[in-house]
Amino acid sequence: MAIETPAEAEILPILSHWINGSPVEVHIDQTAPVYNPATGRVFGHVPRGGQAEVDAAVAAAKAAFPAWRDMPLIVRSNIFFNFRQLMFENREELARLITRDHGKTYPDALAEVLRGIETIDFACGLPVHLSGMMTPNVSTKVDTFTLRQGLGVVAAITPFNFPVMVPCWIYPIALACGNTVVFKPSSHTPGATQLQAELWKRAGGPDGTLNVVYGGKEAVKSIVEHKDIRAIQFVGSTSVGRYVYEEGTKRGKRVGAYTSAKNAMLVLPDADMDLVADAAVAAGFGSAGERCMAQTLFIGVGDTAERLKPKMLERIAKLRIGDGMTPGVDMGPIYSEDHRSRVIDWIDTGVAEGAELLVDGRTFVSDENPEGFFLGVSLFDHVTPDMKIYQEEIFGPVFGIAYAETFDQGLKMINDHKYANGTAVFTTDGGAARRFKLEVEVPMIGVNVPIPVPAGFMSFSGAKESALGDLAMRGEDGIRFFTQQKMVTERWPEPGKQGPLSLVFPGNS
Ligand code: NAD
Repeated sequence: MAIETPAEAEILPILSHWINGSPVEVHIDQTAPVYNPATGRVFGHVPRGGQAEVDAAVAAAKAAFPAWRDMPLIVRSNIFFNFRQLMFENREELARLITRDHGKTYPDALAEVLRGIETIDFACGLPVHLSGMMTPNVSTKVDTFTLRQGLGVVAAITPFNFPVMVPCWIYPIALACGNTVVFKPSSHTPGATQLQAELWKRAGGPDGTLNVVYGGKEAVKSIVEHKDIRAIQFVGSTSVGRYVYEEGTKRGKRVGAYTSAKNAMLVLPDADMDLVADAAVAAGFGSAGERCMAQTLFIGVGDTAERLKPKMLERIAKLRIGDGMTPGVDMGPIYSEDHRSRVIDWIDTGVAEGAELLVDGRTFVSDENPEGFFLGVSLFDHVTPDMKIYQEEIFGPVFGIAYAETFDQGLKMINDHKYANGTAVFTTDGGAARRFKLEVEVPMIGVNVPIPVPAGFMSFSGAKESALGDLAMRGEDGIRFFTQQKMVTERWPEPGKQGPLSLVFPGNS
């Protein structure tokens, strides 16, 4: 890895926290380096915020809340229309920042930005999403209605792998509901965060409504323990998510934690194997396998695995691995050097466990960028449920082929897994697909679709070890999560006609 000289370090850009609508600059001593994984070089520094920065962000958000909550909904909605437009106009810059920080290819980053904007589209309709239900005459001259209001100050804690899309699944919904937000992104991929905060301000987002604090463990602890934060949505690994969920709910906060995954595709013998091979390679190795909806396990019924292998090998041989900004590259580097080592350890584990390594990505070196954090793709055959590489999330370009004798056995293998995020069935049999949809214990399901990420106006969920909390992110559930519902019972008695005093429980007649 290239280490910059002190002179270089001084001129490298330092990101700023964003509190109350302005950047909060920090000294280089309070920062951590950020690497471009394609070159292995440091290109900037990200602040390491903690208690003081979280306190300042919460104070700004708390002060901004009453006016934001009371803003006429059409005026609030117009800010979202402006924000949506600005995000779209800046989509290429956002994508470039994602590729620089994360390593995924530029077209993949652009697709991520557009999928994030879909949720802002949804937020533009906030006056409809926040409408309540009015029922007149529930009793004599008594009407009842529900209304939804923001909770107050809420927080978003997000992972490295989708620096725009995943935050866009949280903070626009929280803001649309009338909350004010403290947003803590991953320090590995911080570049696109600052631009989002600036665009929110340019769109007319009042100061203090969206605040950004960079940092790691200390910043997260400060958020989880802060008495003025009412709710948290977290996306990241199960271990950190469990901590945020348990410590947050213990303090009376609403917490939704959307966490790790191991997604399997069940392939029936009648499936179109060219479609399946394309799906397996795209969903297994796209973004170097660093997607929570990556499909990294193939469960083949009957002879499907034998038919898949030559088709997969043919496609793998043609993959181009390199800098994600280079046109024609299919897969970029791993996001960090540490994670690259972890993925290599997983491949070593698979070999030790007795899985057959058909393609070994460990030795890949990029000619153009020998110091980049690159790995080739790896393909294991004969992966079985007792192996760690079957049970655990690897989050790298490592794909495993497992076998089932029947549909029922394959379905059971998926339902027995501790993770339940996304899954897919590949078949031309509508009846089998129907059974799969009804019986699989995984909430996001593809039918001949390998990465079934629901559209931006729908909710995105998870179950078992892939999600903690009762509600999904975004969509209808997102509105529920970020609002308090109030139930009003109302009567306007005519003077002098309110009837005699009675201590009987009020009846509705
Ligand atoms: P991570 O858990 O390491 O980090 C997530 C967030 O927690 C980051 O903001 C990070 O700064 C913070 N954090 C990290 N370590 C911490 C600690 N010890 N204490 C407190 N905070 C800490 O996750 P990641 O590596 O950034 O992201 C990859 C993980 O996210 C994978 O497991 C992936 O499956 C998951 N993910 C899930 C979804 C989903 O919707 N279910 C979506 C994307 C990613």
